[in-house]
Amino acid sequence: MTAPIRHADQLFNDVFLPDETRRIRREVRQFADDVVRPVAHRLNTTPESRQSFPHPLFKAMGAAGLYKIPFGADVGGLGLEFPTLATVTVLEELGYHSPSLASALFDGQAILVGQTLEHAGPLLREKYLPKLVRGEFVGSFATSEPEASTDLSPGNMQTIAEKVEGGFRISGTKRWITNSVAADYIAVLCKTGQRQTFLFADMRAPGISVSDPDRKMGNYVQLTADVNFDRVFVADDHVIGNENAGLRAALGALMLGRMGIGAIGVAMAQAAFDFSSGYISRRKVFGKPVAAFQHWQFRYADYAMRIEMARSLYQKAALLYDKTGNAETEAAMAKVAGSELAVDMARDAIQACGAYGFVQTLSATGETFPLESIYRDAKIGEIYEGANEVQRWVIARHIFGRDITG
Ligand SMILES: Cc1cc2nc3c(=O)[nH]c(=O)nc-3n(C[C@H](O)[C@H](O)[C@H](O)COP(=O)(O)OP(=O)(O)OC[C@H]3O[C@@H](n4cnc5c(N)ncnc54)[C@H](O)[C@@H]3O)c2cc1C
Repeated sequence: MTAPIRHADQLFNDVFLPDETRRIRREVRQFADDVVRPVAHRLNTTPESRQSFPHPLFKAMGAAGLYKIPFGADVGGLGLEFPTLATVTVLEELGYHSPSLASALFDGQAILVGQTLEHAGPLLREKYLPKLVRGEFVGSFATSEPEASTDLSPGNMQTIAEKVEGGFRISGTKRWITNSVAADYIAVLCKTGQRQTFLFADMRAPGISVSDPDRKMGNYVQLTADVNFDRVFVADDHVIGNENAGLRAALGALMLGRMGIGAIGVAMAQAAFDFSSGYISRRKVFGKPVAAFQHWQFRYADYAMRIEMARSLYQKAALLYDKTGNAETEAAMAKVAGSELAVDMARDAIQACGAYGFVQTLSATGETFPLESIYRDAKIGEIYEGANEVQRWVIARHIFGRDITG
C-alpha cells in the first residue's frame, strides 16, 4: 500500500513552533517512516505474548538518540530549550504508525520512568538517567493495583512497603504494568502507614515475579502484566523523592504522560484522517467519489478543525510546562481532546471506508489496512493515565474551585 498523503503538512502549520522542535519532528518522522512503518502492521495486529516485546525497535530508538530528547546535557540528553514540547512531538510522530509502540516505548519509558528519575533526587537521577538516555534498560512505572487505580488513596492501596533495617520490604501486586515482562527496573508506589512512598526496585531482586502479558482489545505492543512482590527489599537510597511523599512524585510524571496521550491521540486521528480521506476521494458510489457527498466533506472539515485544535492543545500544554514547570489543566485538556478525537475519527473513518475500513488483511490480495487497529488502539486513551472523567474533574476544579468540586 502506498503511503497516504500527510495532510498535517498542508492543513496544520507548525508556525508557532521553535526551530528545535521542527527539527526534532523532521528527524523523528524520518526514523518512524524508515524503521517503524515497515513493521507497523505486524506490530499493531500481533496479539501479546512474552516474546513480543520489540527489543530491536527499543534498541533502534536508543541508537537513534530518541531517549536523549527529553533530558538535559548533564545526563547525556540533548539539553533542548523546550524538551517537553519536543518529547510530545516525538510521540505524535511515532504514534502515527504505531500508537502502542509510542505509548510503551516512549511515553512509558521516556516520560513515566524518565521523568520519575528526573525528579527522583540526585543519587537516583545520576545513577540511572544516563543509562535510560542511552537506551540501556527497560523501565516500568507501577501505581495501579487490582483494586485501585483511579483512586490511589492510601486507604485503597494494598501494596505495602514495610520499614526494615536499611530500607523497605515490598509486598503486594501491581496490575497492568507496561513493559514489566521486559523491565530491568520498576518505580513502584507503595503504602507506608497512612502515606505512600515511591520506590525504585531492581526487577531481578528476589521475590519479584511477573505474570504473562494480558490479552487486550488493542495496544498490542504495550505489554501489560501483573507484577507480584513478595517481601522484596529496596534500600533506603532508592526512595524516589522523599519518603511518604510518593503520590506527588508519581502524579508529576503522569501529568506529562497525559500530554503524551493527547499527542498519541492526535497521531491516531491524523493517520485515520489521512488514510480515509485518500480512500474516499478514490472510491466511487453512485458514480462519484464518496468524498463528493457533502455529508463527508463537512465531517472531514470538522475533523480537520478538531485535529488542529487537539494538536495545538498538546503543544501549548508542553510549552507551558517548559516555561513554568506546571500545566495541570492544559495537560488534562490535551489528554481529553486528543483521546476522544482519536476514537471519533477512527469510528467515522471506518464508516466512510466501509468494509475496507473494517478489514485487517484482505485474503484475496494480501493487502493490509490500518483503520481497524487504530479503532482498537484508540479506546484506551480515554481510560489510562487518568480516566477522562477525572481529567474533566481536574479542569472543573479550576473553574469552580475545590470547595465545590471536591
Ligand atoms: C494498556 C494499559 C497500560 C497501562 N499501563 C499502566 C502502567 O504502566 N502502570 C500503571 O500503574 N497502570 C497502568 N495501567 C492502568 C491504568 O492507568 C488504569 O486502567 C486507569 O488508571 C483506570 O483505572 P482502572 O482501570 O482501575 O479503572 P477504575 O479506577 O476502576 O475506574 C473505572 C471507571 O470509573 C470511572 N471513574 C473513575 N473516577 C471517576 C470520577 N471521579 N467521576 C466519574 N467517573 C469516574 C471512569 O470512567 C473509569 O474508566 C494501564 C492500563 C492499560 C489498559
